[in-house]
Amino acid sequence: MQGDRICGMQGMNEMKYEDLAVTEYPSFDGHECVHSFEDDTSGLKALVAIHNTNLGPALGGCRMFNYRSEKNSVRDVLRLSRGLTYKNALAGFPLGGGQAVIVGNPHVNKSDVLLESMGQAIEELDGAFICAEDSGTSQRDMEVIHRKTDHVLGLPAQAGRLGGDPVPMAAYGVYCGMKAAAQRRFGSDSLNDLVVAIQGLGSVGFELCKLLQAEGARLVGADIDGMAVKRVREAFPEMVIVGEHDIFALEGHIFAPCAMGAQLNDNSIPQMHFDIIAGSANNQLASPHHDTWLADRDILYIPDYVINSGTVIAVAYEYFERLGKNPFDHPLNAETMKAHIERIGNTVNDVLDFAEEYGVPPGQAADSLAEKVFLSAKKPVS
Ligand code: NAD
Repeated sequence: MQGDRICGMQGMNEMKYEDLAVTEYPSFDGHECVHSFEDDTSGLKALVAIHNTNLGPALGGCRMFNYRSEKNSVRDVLRLSRGLTYKNALAGFPLGGGQAVIVGNPHVNKSDVLLESMGQAIEELDGAFICAEDSGTSQRDMEVIHRKTDHVLGLPAQAGRLGGDPVPMAAYGVYCGMKAAAQRRFGSDSLNDLVVAIQGLGSVGFELCKLLQAEGARLVGADIDGMAVKRVREAFPEMVIVGEHDIFALEGHIFAPCAMGAQLNDNSIPQMHFDIIAGSANNQLASPHHDTWLADRDILYIPDYVINSGTVIAVAYEYFERLGKNPFDHPLNAETMKAHIERIGNTVNDVLDFAEEYGVPPGQAADSLAEKVFLSAKKPVS
């Protein structure tokens, strides 16, 4: 295993992949450190970015994705890692933000050997980064990573302990945030009879469909993967499936991005007539100005890292229970964890109140609120 530290500023000489030039990416944004790992034996090629640890060690996802270029993987890990700092701050945890990405097709290149190698890489970071599942990884993958490191979450719950697959909690958080947005826009939090278009019918999208169907929403979906479409067709026969490019221009109430990032962009936004955007995907806005574009079109955008924090809330409870350190004045158990996720609705309202008060779009409002939390916790310069 070769691990390289590609830190901003002082570590630049140690860089193995000079061409990555991490500091030149717009989303570098003062990252504390970026590590790259390569292991010829297992085939592992991975990056771990640590954006900010003012509040505590970095907790984030481990994504596996078939990146078209090295640049794309760097851009993705930096954007995700930065987002985690904001997400963990607004979710109210003494945790910083980081992210891991494994380069490769999860359907083709994933193996136990590769995941164990990823576990070894995380172990080498000695607790500076704690990982949980993300797109392209599963609870079982976290169990394999756990063979090599304790710094992994979302493991099967032991009797009477917290843990388990966080994906249903991610979907539940989106559902709670969606209801808060509906209350705001329509004067009722009921999703019954609303048309909800779900882009991406993978792990979170599928769980979200269950919750929305139970509430009587009218579901429309799109996915580029035939297997994912087949699964929803079997589970939700009344759901309407549309083409991946047709979903943006639908007449509907809520658009739920649950696929990859940057789907709210120059091309998609002008086609949209939805009232609300509320979904699980990370980095939904291709660029910060798309926040304003959506507001100008009177589309209520619920910032991604506010509404998709169900997973980090679930795994953070698991983390603090395992550590035996409770940062709250309530006990850590399944009920309090679920109640914490339900408070995503309150955070949505705080963000939208701030946006209205200061006349800024919601993404900018969320950033300001999160920055107040983690920048004020800035570590003293030693
Ligand atoms: P997943 O890989 O299980 O599902 C994503 C689905 O999106 C796949 O079925 C894929 O085929 C589909 N897809 C990709 N591009 C598409 C496109 N252009 N149009 C339509 N479908 C497309 O991933 P997931 O775990 O469900 O995560 C979905 C999103 O939510 C990701 O952005 C992820 O980072 C974010 N997220 C996930 C979690 C989690 O716990 N898994 C938590 C928070 C946020």
